[in-house]
Parts: sequence; structure tokens; C-alpha cells
Amino acid sequence: VLSDLDMPPFDKSAMDGFAVRASDVKEVPVTLEVIADVPAGSVPDVEIGPGQAAAVMTGAPVPKGADAVVMVEWTSGFGEPSVVIERSVSRGVYINTRGEVVRKGTAVLKKGAPIGVEEISLLAMAGTTSVPVYARPTAAVLATGDELVPPDAVPGPAQIRNCNSATLLAFLEELGVEGRDLGIVRDDIGATRAAVEEALEHDVVLITGGVSVGTYDFVIEVLEALGVTVHFSRVAMKPGKPTVFGTIGDKMVFALPGNPVSATVTARVLVAPVLGKRCGIRSSAPKTVTCRLEAEVKKKPDRLWFVPGVVTLGEQSSVMPVMNRGSADILSAAAANALIVAPRGETHLEKGTLVEVVLGRFGL
Ligand code: AMP
Ligand code: MG
Repeated sequence: VLSDLDMPPFDKSAMDGFAVRASDVKEVPVTLEVIADVPAGSVPDVEIGPGQAAAVMTGAPVPKGADAVVMVEWTSGFGEPSVVIERSVSRGVYINTRGEVVRKGTAVLKKGAPIGVEEISLLAMAGTTSVPVYARPTAAVLATGDELVPPDAVPGPAQIRNCNSATLLAFLEELGVEGRDLGIVRDDIGATRAAVEEALEHDVVLITGGVSVGTYDFVIEVLEALGVTVHFSRVAMKPGKPTVFGTIGDKMVFALPGNPVSATVTARVLVAPVLGKRCGIRSSAPKTVTCRLEAEVKKKPDRLWFVPGVVTLGEQSSVMPVMNRGSADILSAAAANALIVAPRGETHLEKGTLVEVVLGRFGL
């Protein structure tokens, strides 16, 4: 998007005050003749000569001849014909010069920029009221599991509430992707197939559960039967080991492990960057920050671990690992605001070492 004008489009007063010639106010106090009153939105038809000034309001064009603005607080005795200037100013003071922010014809937004609050402001200023954007994908959310009941139900013996569907819908909303809740599907191959088929009417499919090696984990089999190319079905991370990613045409399927923490972590570190890219965002990698570890982390070397932590940002940011009881411990996950990256191969990260941390949640 190119700007069709200089911003600001004219030399503009940044203060309520008096437009003067800086050379006239070297010695103060000095009395200047006020030859015009320039409110914002008016075009001054005067030129400021030696010994002269014009009253100007914030946002008003600075008349020709003037090269500085003295704010009203630095003046006194303003009566119709004159004003006393009490402080000297150098040239250019409190004038926003034409084109100082953007020159006409220069790019103000480039392809791939996410359009947020400041970008809208820029587009409005540049007179651009419509821009080509990437269509947001739509995403279907499907929970698998015979043990699941909706969150508003009281679980019977051996049942639990489905929290993943609401979680993933909230996650999609955070990303600005429209989510569609396809509910709970039983651990039955026919039912799973029918539900996944319906889900595949959307651009993106998020499934939870049914991806491990249990007797009733049918998701991978169903995906393959429906012609989905499964690119991977194991990831060397904890939580998230049984994460599945597949594509069919330009549709994408993520089948995430059923444990709620596994689902949220894989959503944040694996799904979010892909959806961001799908939405056309240039750099959608997770935001990370280097932090000093406030307590040791012990782990097995088998995989990369994402450990919940509380980050305190500062000159030297620090992170405190949150004690947790594994992949179902959503309470600890909710107490954290970030994920500590504990690399594969390591068995023990000592207190005080520098670690990479994914800023997994907003509003730190
Ligand atoms: P699965 O990946 O299906 O083997 O499930 C792993 C664990 O996550 C099991 O303890 C499930 O009961 C639990 N789980 C699966 N789906 C959900 C869900 N939608 N909400 C809450 N817990 C779930
Ligand atoms: Mg299951």
C-alpha cells in the first residue's frame, strides 16, 4: 500500500501557541505583532514577517515565513494586536513538517503484514479503504472419546467432561480463525469416519484424542482411509508425542493428543504458526524470549519438553517452572504464562541457566 500523500500533508503546528520566526525570539521577553488567528482546518493567507506572529491551534497549518511555534504556556499578555514571547525556541520547534512521517508514494504496508489497530490507522491515513487480504480459513473442531460428556453435563462413572472442544474454539478465536464445533464422536470407526468426513468440508480440521496406540484409537486409520496424507504421527516433544499432521488438497488436519494440556501445548506451538501462515502472516513463529531459570528442571533426555512456567519480563527476564502433574494438569497450565523449552538430550537444567521460553499466552 502506497501513501497517496505526504504525512503530514502540510507543515502543522504541534501545539496551541504562536507561529514565529525563531530569529525574532532569540532575546526574550519580546513583543510580537499578531497578524492572524489560524484554527485547525483553516488555510492561512498571511506571511509572517520580522516582528510578527500568528496565533495557531494544534493541527493548524503554520503560515509561511514562520519557522517555529511557541506554546501558549510560554507567552503572556495576548491581546488582539500583540503577544509577549517569554522563551526562545529554535527553528522547527513544535512544527511537524510536511512528509516527515511518510513521503507520498512510499510503501506504508507490505504484503504479509497482519492488519491490526495501528495498520488500520495507517491505511485510513493513506486513504486506503480496501486492501486485498487472505481469506481466513474455517476450522472444524472434533473431540473423540467414549468417555466424554459435554461440559454442562454431570459425568457418570468412568466419564469426564470434554474440555478440549471449548479450548480449541477459544484458541481459534484468539487467532481470529472461525471455528465450528462438531461435538463429540464415539470411539467407533464408522462414526469417526462420518465425523471426519464432515469436518473435511472445512479448510482446517482439529481433532483431539484417538491418536495413541490404544485399541480404540481410530483417527489415523480413518484419515488414511479418507485419502488424507499423514505427514507425521509422532513428534519428539512432551507433551504432544502422538500429534498427527495430514493434508488432503489444500486442507490440513491436526489430530492432537486428548489430554487437555497436550492439546493446548500442541495447539500453541504447532498449530498456531501454521494457521498464522495459512492466514498469510509473514512471520507467525511463536514468540520466544531468553530467561534465567529460577529453579532447576529435571527431565528425561528422550524428547524436547515444554515445561509450564511463569515469566517475569525485565532487563533480565526470569522464569519460574510451575510444578505440574503432567498432561492432564490444566490447573498448572493455567497458572503459567509461558512454556520453558527444555531441549532433547538434556537431563537437567540448572537453576540460573539461560533458557528459551515460548510466550505461550497473551497479556503477560
Ligand atoms: P486419547 O488421546 O484419546 O488417548 O486420550 C488421552 C487422555 O485424554 C485420556 O485420559 C482421555 O480421557 C483424555 N481426553 C481425551 N479427550 C478429551 C477431551 N476432549 N477433554 C478432556 N479430556 C480428554
Ligand atoms: Mg480417546
